[in-house]
Order: sequence, then C-alpha cells, then structure tokens
Amino acid sequence: MRTAVISDIHSNLEAMGRVLEDIRHQRVEETVCLGDLVGYGPNPNECVEMVRKACSHVVAGNHDHAAVGLTALETFNPQARLAVEWTRSHLLPEHRDYLKHLHFTRHRKEITLVHATPHEPKQWHYLFDWRDLLVNFRAFHGRYCFIGHTHLPLAFIQGPDDRLYFNRNAVVPIEEGHRYLVNVGSVGQPRDGNPAASYAIFDASGPAIEFRRVPYPVRLTQEKMKKAGLPEYLIQRLSVGR
Ligand code: ZN
Repeated sequence: MRTAVISDIHSNLEAMGRVLEDIRHQRVEETVCLGDLVGYGPNPNECVEMVRKACSHVVAGNHDHAAVGLTALETFNPQARLAVEWTRSHLLPEHRDYLKHLHFTRHRKEITLVHATPHEPKQWHYLFDWRDLLVNFRAFHGRYCFIGHTHLPLAFIQGPDDRLYFNRNAVVPIEEGHRYLVNVGSVGQPRDGNPAASYAIFDASGPAIEFRRVPYPVRLTQEKMKKAGLPEYLIQRLSVGR
C-alpha cells in the first residue's frame, strides 16, 4: 500500500496545489497529514479545505492549535505570533471548528502519525539529541512513526541491535527488523535550504520511504503575503527555504 504523507502546509496554497498534483501521479491509495495546516501563509481557509478533501487522516499541529486558541501564543516567536493572530482573524468558523477537534495522534496498524513527537505529543517538543530520539523510539509501538514540526526532512532509524542512525537520502530503503521515525519535511515552509515543497511517499511493500521535492511559484505566495501584511521575514525565508 502506497501512502502520501504531507505536513506543515502553513496556509501556502501554491505549494499545497503542486504537491497534490504530484501525489496524483504517484499511485497512492491514501494521503495523510501531520498538522500545521495553517499559520505563516496567506490562504488558511483554502488549505484547510484541501486537506479535508484530500486526506484520510489528519492530526493537529501547534499552529493549528494556536490559531483556534488552544495553545498559548507566548511559545511563538514575534513573527510567528503575528501570523497566528492574522490567521485567527481570517479563519472561517467551520474550519476553526475542524482544527479544534483534530486528535494529537493517529495509530493505524504499524504506523503512528503525530505532529511533533510520539513522546508527550501535546508538549510540541523538538528532537535535539540522541537521548530524545531514544525516548521517542520507545514512545511508539509499531515499526513506523511519521512526524513534521521542524520542517527538516529526514529518517531516523533504529537497527535490530538498537543502534540509532539517520538517513537523508531521497530514497530510504525499509529493512527487516528496523524501525523508522520519519520527518517528512514541510509543504509550505521548507527549512533545509531547498525552497521546493517537501513530502514523503511510504510504501511498506516497495519497500521504501521516498522524500519528494516539488517546486512551486514561490513569488506568487510572497506577493499574496505582502498584500495581506504578513511579516517580511516570513515572506523572505520562502525564497531560500530557511
Ligand atoms: Zn510547522
């Protein structure tokens, strides 16, 4: 079964549109979303609508929760906070309601879906070191856990001898006895130096995880952000993917 895993769309309609177009050519059976549908970009309502239509499973992100008043704004930097406030004032009631009721995690057979980390998902942790990683490999029970949140695509792998390592190649093979904690990167605001939208295709019988990059008209998104009065820093970072 082939599954497309998308995350961190952040109200970027152009990136989301191109990614869905790319997914259409990938013969996937389903698409799932790891949260942060909104925040940063100029099209929150359109992006929520697209995710609702395209995805069979969706979990909540910290920006989704902030946009509907479930997470305190104090945890956000000033630019992100301005974007959250802008999003709050533009989000339609039906989409606000939808975001409010998203779950923190989803489990499907061998797969866990969560926005930040499987360990304490409500705390929106970041993975800083190998010790964090070990705690998180213990926090999910199947073989695969998919995450977003940092906007940096890569796969953490636990070998049969419990050794941990990572793989940043475009295609990560699935090997017998290994477990995978995979960050699929961000559709709407990549931060690994590549401005193209990022997502992953998971195929357990493939057997592989494939990171895909999809260019989109960044300028168009930036012009809309400018018109909306969103912070300049957030506009500029899309050009460089930082
Ligand atoms: Zn995010």
